[in-house]
Amino acid sequence: MNRTKFVLLASLFFCSTLSFCSARSLQTRLGSLFDQGKFAETEQLLLDALQNDPDDLTAWRELASLRKSQGDYTGTLSAYQQYLARHEDWQVRRDTALTLEQLGQFGNAIPDLRALYAQHPQDEEVLWGMALLCQSQARLKAIRTQPTSWDAWMEAQKYLLALVKAKPNNALYEWQLAQVSRYVHDPKRALDAYRSALRLDPSFKWAHRFMAELLAQQRKYGEALEQYDRAVAIEPDDDQLKQEEEQVQAEAPRAEEKRELQKMKDWKEWKLPSEVPLSASAVTIRVGLAVHVNHLLMRSPAPIQVFPAMTGSTPGPTPTPLAILPPGKDYQIVYLSAPRSPSHHETWILKSFLGKILLRFTRPVWILSQDPRQPLVFHEMPTNMGYFFGRNEDRAYRDVIEILPKPKIGFNVINRVDLEAYTAGVLPSEMLSSWPEEALKAQAVVVRSYALSRLKQHAAEGFDVCDSVHCQVYGGVGAETKRTDSAVNQTAGEVLEHRGKVIPAVFSAQCGGRTQDYAEAWGGDQPVVGVRDYDPKYNQDIEFPLSPYSLERWIKEDRVAYCRAYGMRGYRNFRWMTELSVKAVELKAPQVGRVRRLAVLHRSTAGWADRLVVEGEKGRQEYKGDSIRGFLGGIRSNLIWIEPQFNLKGWPEMFIIYGGGWGHGVGMCQVGAHALAVGGKKCDEILKHYFPMADIEKY
Ligand SMILES: [Zn+2]
Ligand SMILES: [Zn+2]
Repeated sequence: MNRTKFVLLASLFFCSTLSFCSARSLQTRLGSLFDQGKFAETEQLLLDALQNDPDDLTAWRELASLRKSQGDYTGTLSAYQQYLARHEDWQVRRDTALTLEQLGQFGNAIPDLRALYAQHPQDEEVLWGMALLCQSQARLKAIRTQPTSWDAWMEAQKYLLALVKAKPNNALYEWQLAQVSRYVHDPKRALDAYRSALRLDPSFKWAHRFMAELLAQQRKYGEALEQYDRAVAIEPDDDQLKQEEEQVQAEAPRAEEKRELQKMKDWKEWKLPSEVPLSASAVTIRVGLAVHVNHLLMRSPAPIQVFPAMTGSTPGPTPTPLAILPPGKDYQIVYLSAPRSPSHHETWILKSFLGKILLRFTRPVWILSQDPRQPLVFHEMPTNMGYFFGRNEDRAYRDVIEILPKPKIGFNVINRVDLEAYTAGVLPSEMLSSWPEEALKAQAVVVRSYALSRLKQHAAEGFDVCDSVHCQVYGGVGAETKRTDSAVNQTAGEVLEHRGKVIPAVFSAQCGGRTQDYAEAWGGDQPVVGVRDYDPKYNQDIEFPLSPYSLERWIKEDRVAYCRAYGMRGYRNFRWMTELSVKAVELKAPQVGRVRRLAVLHRSTAGWADRLVVEGEKGRQEYKGDSIRGFLGGIRSNLIWIEPQFNLKGWPEMFIIYGGGWGHGVGMCQVGAHALAVGGKKCDEILKHYFPMADIEKY
């Protein structure tokens, strides 16, 4: 008998004798039904199990979690009550009280939660329940047990202070502490807490706005304007925000002037870090730096040459330059639409800083520094607009800058750059240059492979890849460091291949404990499969796909994983929480009317949501895959567990989202790669762990 058969038979034998095994097999069956969205079948399976054995406490818990996941809180409550009728467990009693609070049954929740707080004053969930309860009490006189609304806010502040002390990495606790402190006119604590929330999780973007308001009230106009800038970069279309900023600018003209001068000074003093020579590659990547812009400011320490754009396929004598610009000066590239142009034709112009016209053009031009070691520098390049880290930055680029005129719109800015130089410009923007060398090397191989697999991505806009997180963040030569350039050189030309083809070697910051299958996340047949991102000796009670109760625990608890990191700068969100108001949901899905329910309908094997529904009075709307993150306000990942807060009348007012990981969770987990490298693993071992189906080859 071979070994596999023996193990199988042995396990069958044990399973018939140990209740642990039957619980395990129930969990497995639940998991595969649940993550495919077969909720009625999942519930039936549990009800059958409970008919067999009404004292099956695990089944009652599974039933409660299943109903919770679907927004059925009355059903959840009854499952918890059935559990408690059979067995006393203070944690289930606590979950019952929290369910009452979430249901808006405050009359029952208040005595239960207060009793629990008296017995377990340190318990995080109890503190959280109390904080939510007191905030509701501050807003609603009918349920208030405190003398005034102010007292209720103060009580909420007490619990939130205890929570931020107990869990210093939870951005939602800091955010709520900031909000509550603002209501009780405690601006110092509010500002500190907003700062902490943003440090932990920059997607709490509204913090910039509230900080700006508080700073303006304190007449700290410079700082206030900085916060408005950040807020506007995230929400470029928010007119109210712009008006507020203009108002502060008007109140503080000198602060604004000083700030503009400082920006120009920074730009003048901008120096290129010492450049490291890179290996050459035969491949040129066209990176989109900006689309549909109408103004650009540039300079170079060396003379600048402007050529008509060449087509890559026709080698021949280098054409004569259209212009050669003296070094060290500032130049502008400007688009004038027909109504603005003196000739009444739209024009594209290259002019001096003071406005002298040096060149008019209508076809694409190439701009390059005459000395490759002294590249072109651009002022306030818009980068990652619309993301919470969006801003304008001074940037420098190797090789050629192409200006592509776009009739009636403006122009696109493209960097035509060698593959190795591109990799060098991406690496420090996608991984901290202080990270272990083997992790940096793995990331360099991944960056190169991913770029090559995405060359058609932006063909319609005239380039291969963009410079934002949509493709890979590319900071140009100014972002390069000695350590990252060395990792690029040590892996020069290396890519990940499967059967002779470069694979789409995607990566994300933190996978949350198990990576996703490429096919499950985005469809298609790619050789990138999900892996457990932890030593198999841990989490033995967890099986993928996850049953309702294991999913709730997997997301809410701090499980062991390679990417569980809290001390690391920028990566304190292995598990996270955020909130989403019903108003925000209704703004994004106005067609559904007043919102009743928000629930995940389908999940990948790793537990990530890939179908979400919002239901309202007038209808329903589904969101799929990556669009879910944007719809939920730019949350960190799709590994989520959503819980509503209902009001007195049974309407949801707010959703609390528990989450894990950061990014899409497919391919290499960067924080996991960091941990593996610290643990002594080499570049090739790290890549084999995350891409078990690929080999490292020279491209
Ligand atoms: Zn892109
Ligand atoms: Zn991971």
